Amino acid sequence: MKTITVFKGDGIGPEITDAVLDILKAAKAPLEYEIFNVGAAEYEKNGALIPDAAFASFEKTRVLLKSPITTPVGKGFRSLNVTLRNKYDLYANIRPAKSNAAVPTPFPNVDIVTFRENTEDLYIGVEYKMNDDTVQAIKLITRKASERIIRAAFDYAVANGRKKVTCVHKANILKMSDGMFLDIFREIAKEYQQIESDDKIVDNTCMQLVMYPENFDVMVMPNLYGDIVSDLTSGLIGGLGLLPSMNVGDDFAMFEAVHGSAPDIAGKHIANPTAFLWSACMMLEYIGETDVAANIRSAVDAVLAENQCLTPDLGGKATTEAYRDAVIAHLK
Ligand code: NAD
Repeated sequence: MKTITVFKGDGIGPEITDAVLDILKAAKAPLEYEIFNVGAAEYEKNGALIPDAAFASFEKTRVLLKSPITTPVGKGFRSLNVTLRNKYDLYANIRPAKSNAAVPTPFPNVDIVTFRENTEDLYIGVEYKMNDDTVQAIKLITRKASERIIRAAFDYAVANGRKKVTCVHKANILKMSDGMFLDIFREIAKEYQQIESDDKIVDNTCMQLVMYPENFDVMVMPNLYGDIVSDLTSGLIGGLGLLPSMNVGDDFAMFEAVHGSAPDIAGKHIANPTAFLWSACMMLEYIGETDVAANIRSAVDAVLAENQCLTPDLGGKATTEAYRDAVIAHLK
């Protein structure tokens, strides 16, 4: 039995967490869970966004399954996600977007994995008010952080039989910061002769992604572009409800859906738990429980293919709980 830490989060977080834990239990995942409420709602109740006991649990288990947390826009506390990524040096944010035959979109051949640098760039959150009408934000790019995310992308490509790694940047304008990221990419690419490499400017990347997504394989990029471009890839495959992710460093790993707390549908029991469930599958694979992950993945594929029990974001009428039960019914 492996113990993992679970954060329930805000908005749809508790609903999708309950559904995913029910499916993990039904699939007989050999896991024990230390479960904590975290986020804005927890802060209002108990005065801490993440209780000390929740941090302590993650520091012990080193594996965290985390549902979304609400972050105030334009004011209030710093994003807890950014805090967690920095505190535990979760430098690689890996976001796989793959078309599913059962979810019709204009793009049936998407199979793209985004490697987003997770610790620096504009997300260090350093902003200066120069005067009442002028604000400056710092974009930080370091050799160390660039090297490790680029290497992680190439290592992943080798380990998973992928063919190409594309560096996404804006080095035509940001000649020093993105320029260095691109230079490091080109240096490291030489060490991986078996993997094709190329680079694209981020705006061109967005256009190419919606016209020729089949030309992309593994992509690596600084933090802000990774945030935006990976949401774009989720749109290609049918929406945010289908995009899982892992945030991994040398010592800790955190697994979460790419989507947020979806306050517009919270409490309505119509949230799609698939992205969070696939994040849990990535977690199972990370800890070596590949058979349990494969069982859950094929049950999800079967439910999507049947097209009988889909949540409203995929054009169906099913509740989160009905979808959960359908997945459980297809487990072997
Ligand atoms: P969002 O991802 O929460 O929602 C965007 C749209 O997608 C909404 O219409 C929502 O209903 C829909 N959606 C998202 N997930 C869905 C799901 N599983 N099933 C069905 N529909 C789904 O983005 P937002 O509205 O911009 O952000 C809401 C809050 O979430 C903000 O406070 C934001 O900071 C936070 N957020 C948190 C995380 C995280 O915790 N990792 C990530 C992104 C945003």
